Amino acid sequence: MLEVRKISKYYKYSVNAYPALNQVELTINEQDFAAVTGPSGSGKSTLFHTIAGLLKPSEGSVVLNGIEIVSGAKSPIRTKEISFIMQGQNLLSNFTIEDNLYFPLYLAGLRGNYYQRAVEVLTMVGLENVLFSYPSRLSGGELRRIAIARALMLKPKLLLADEPTSNLDTENAFKVMELFQNINEEGTAVLISTHDEKVLPFCKSIYHMEKGKLVLM
Ligand code: ADP
Ligand code: ADP
Repeated sequence: MLEVRKISKYYKYSVNAYPALNQVELTINEQDFAAVTGPSGSGKSTLFHTIAGLLKPSEGSVVLNGIEIVSGAKSPIRTKEISFIMQGQNLLSNFTIEDNLYFPLYLAGLRGNYYQRAVEVLTMVGLENVLFSYPSRLSGGELRRIAIARALMLKPKLLLADEPTSNLDTENAFKVMELFQNINEEGTAVLISTHDEKVLPFCKSIYHMEKGKLVLM
């Protein structure tokens, strides 16, 4: 489904002698649930932004279902084939959970009625009763699950999540990982980056990144 073909990334004003991504190759299929580990600064965030079409690789290409990923209006994150959960929950505090769920759809220019889907995704994350609540009423773990629910609104083929369990206690971290497992079992590929050793057993494959190089563990 997703093929990362020998991508390298050289930032123009880099503090390092090595590239942020160095000939990275990765294939993700529908049934995959993979984690990328590695120290801070090893290139995980650059890799995810490139896969999402938010950053252009200096060399190589990323191909989604046979079509090369481009940045801009046609990037898979705009067309919602890929959902990217960035670090933190990024919910709008002045809007209800319901409106937060619709917000990316409005940005994408979609004007349908998504009430049914909103109830569905909230049920999936076990928070069906918070539709009309404001984010300030929810705990950190609950907010993280809302961010996941929001990412699922348009049934993406691939879910990318950058450090999805950072700052969560073990119980909430495991809840988030179980949720990803359910999503994966229902046919969505999941790719996460993590520093959190204890969540790795939830994943089907583990990659390690070091100075821009990616290896399968
Ligand atoms: P191009 O010239 O093809 O746009 P660049 O590497 O200059 O390629 O930029 C690709 C992306 O990386 C852009 O979104 C740019 O903003 C970002 N980028 C590159 N270098 C830097 C930098 N030093 N600081 C911040 N962003 C950068
Ligand atoms: P990670 O997500 O693993 O912490 P990043 O992808 O954020 O790693 O960073 C990889 C390397 O690229 C680091 O050395 C970082 O300093 C560098 N880098 C990231 N973004 C930019 C940028 N915009 N301009 C220059 N260097 C960058």
